[in-house]
This record gives sequence, structure tokens and C-alpha cells, in this order.
Amino acid sequence: MDAVTDGETAPHPADGTVMGKDGMTVLVEVLRRRGYTVVGPTVRDDAIVLAELRSADELPYGWGVELDAGRYRLRARSDGMAFANAAGPQSWKTFLHPARVREWSADRDGDRLSLVAEPDEPPRYAFLGVRPCDLRAVEIQDRVLTGGAHRDPVYAGRRSGALLIVVECTEPGATCFCTSMGTGPACGSDCDLVLTEVDDEDGHRFWVRGKSAEGAEILAELPVRAADTRTREAARAGVAGAADAMGRAMPETDLRALMAGTLDAPRWDDVAGRCLTCGNCTMVCPTCFCTTTEDVTDLTGDHAERWRLWDSCFDLDFSQLHGGPVRESSRSRYRQWLTHKLGTWHDQFGSSGCVGCGRCIVWCPVGIDITEEAAALHDWTRPPSPGTEETPG
Ligand code: SF4
Ligand code: SF4
Repeated sequence: MDAVTDGETAPHPADGTVMGKDGMTVLVEVLRRRGYTVVGPTVRDDAIVLAELRSADELPYGWGVELDAGRYRLRARSDGMAFANAAGPQSWKTFLHPARVREWSADRDGDRLSLVAEPDEPPRYAFLGVRPCDLRAVEIQDRVLTGGAHRDPVYAGRRSGALLIVVECTEPGATCFCTSMGTGPACGSDCDLVLTEVDDEDGHRFWVRGKSAEGAEILAELPVRAADTRTREAARAGVAGAADAMGRAMPETDLRALMAGTLDAPRWDDVAGRCLTCGNCTMVCPTCFCTTTEDVTDLTGDHAERWRLWDSCFDLDFSQLHGGPVRESSRSRYRQWLTHKLGTWHDQFGSSGCVGCGRCIVWCPVGIDITEEAAALHDWTRPPSPGTEETPG
């Protein structure tokens, strides 16, 4: 490591290290050499998507995003930042809890029937660029999919070998509200490495802290130097600035109680008039986990397969019992989604089901905004301010 140059006393390990863009290049090389399939953000199809990275050159250096309700646009940045862009359409559940899993296949040969189980043999993933809110989402899915009596073997297998490299947020999108959910923009959960990106007059660099034994081992292979005060302060200021610049916020109230107390609110009819029940919000949500089962056969009838697919509580079939669906109306389906996400999730899994990533706002085709809906329900519960009561006519 380089000598300390800014007049500080000897560095403390907790102060971390600093690496330049060359360090990011080495980081991807080290991860690949260790046998990891590195997944991180990259530009594809006019969006920043999560995909396998063969080199750090594929990171979205110089790209940002503009987000709003029902709107996502890629934009060129004036600097070279790689991670100054908020959540894209995918989350890590794409890799940990895949949208399609073939569970078994069966073949008939005359009177003989052979069944073949399909064991999931995933790569060892290194997730590069996990956002603090998405790290919380992984924690939530850990509890949902592996915390009970029946562990999901697909998720457990993928999750157990995964390395998590968090990049703290320094530029939230207009749809982000992690501050009000207590999930970001600083990293507050367990992971392997935490990075904060800085690009100022002192150059483009990353403040890096090891958070696990393997994270520390990897750090030892990178071209880093002891973190200087200016880098640490710039990094902390970037994250604090992101908290201040957060585009949206949930109402400051007990959301669980709010959901339980508003089941008859007229707002549900209002949102039902806009909701298309397309299920986009559940597909992009990093914590939604529901699946369905589909059996398919080929035209000969001699080959069959069972698939597990992501499902959505917005689908009519989702609540099908004998005789028909329990939740027929879009009002009941939207209400189920929101009250579960913000309310009964606490009873079921011990936390909110929302981490404030804003994806459901961005990718809703009609721009329905979960923070706006919660605020409208909150307003409905509050007595009118003096002087604003309607005069009975
Ligand atoms: S809230 Fe938006 S994304 Fe979700 S089901 Fe309704 S229309 Fe689709
Ligand atoms: S409900 Fe919306 S904002 Fe909350 S975690 Fe899911 S997608 Fe993100």
C-alpha cells in the first residue's frame, strides 16, 4: 500500500482502502479467476440491465438514468461514473429466484415411463453493484424462501455460494424512497465488500471496505492504498447527498397499522380505475416471490415437463379456489398487493416487504405510485385541518 500522504496518523483498517478504475478491472479478473460468474450492471437495449460481466469494461461507465412514474430513460453523464444510476428493471432475484425453472421431465416409451429430476446446478455468482436497498431485498427473500420449515432448494443453492459486493448510492432516481424505508442509501446489512464511488478533482476512484473474510481476501489481491480523508469524506458526502436528494418518501406513519385500518377506503376504487392488473409491479419487485406450476407436453404426448414460473397476485387465477377466484376485482387485487407488501408482510416475515427501490413506480405502464397511494390512504385517515371541512350543502 502507498504511504499515507495527507498528514494523517496511521490508517485504521475500518477506514478502508481506495482503488482507481484499474482496481475495478482487477476486481472482475480476480472474481473470475476464483471461479465466480460475475454479474453486474451493463448497458443493453437502452437500459442498464444486470448481466454476466466478462470484464469491467462492460460496466456502464458514463451512463445514468432518468426515472419517473411509468418512465425510464438512459442518459449520457458528463463524468465517468459507473454506478451513479438507480435501480434498473431487474433485481438479483432474477438470478437467485429465477423466473423459469424446469423441475422435472418425463418420457413415455411404450408402457415404460421414465422421470428425470432436474437438479439446479447454478454457477457461483459474484454480484457486483448490489444497491443497499436490494441487499435488504435479498435478506427478505432469504427469510421468505429459506427461513421456514420448507427451504426452496433452488434459491438456497444459488444463494449459499453467492458473493455480494455492494455499491452505495450517490445518485438516487426520482422514484427512489429507500431513506424513508430505512434501507439505504448507505449499506446497513451483511455483505462481502462495500464500495462507494467518487469522481471529483482528485480523480475517479472507489472507497472499498472488506466486510467478510472472503471480502478481505479479495481486497488483498487488489491494487489499493489506504483510504485518505478526502476520499472518505467525499464518499460519505455523496451518500448523505443521495439521502437528501431522495425523489420520493413514504408517509411518516406506521404503515402496517395504516394498511390494516384502511381496508374500506374509497382510494381502492380510485386506484382500481387506473390499474391494468398487468402484474409488472410484482415482476420487477425484488421481494415478490410467488410462483405457479405449469405442466406441458409435446405434440406426441410422449414427453412432458413440469415448470415453476413466477406468478403474480394480480393474475385472476392466483386466487382460484374451487368455484372461481377469491379476488375477482382489480380493487381487491391491488389492495391485496399493497396491504401485503406494507402491512401483513410484517406479520408473516417480520419486516416490511418493500425496500423503497421504486421499480414498481417506474415500470407501471400507467404510472401508479406506491408512495402516492400510501399517502392518499394516510390522508383519508386524518381528520381535516380546521377551516378545510366541507360545508354541508
Ligand atoms: S399497479 Fe401498475 S404495474 Fe401493477 S398491476 Fe396495476 S397497472 Fe400493472
Ligand atoms: S414494492 Fe415497489 S418500491 Fe417496494 S420493493 Fe417492491 S418494487 Fe421496490
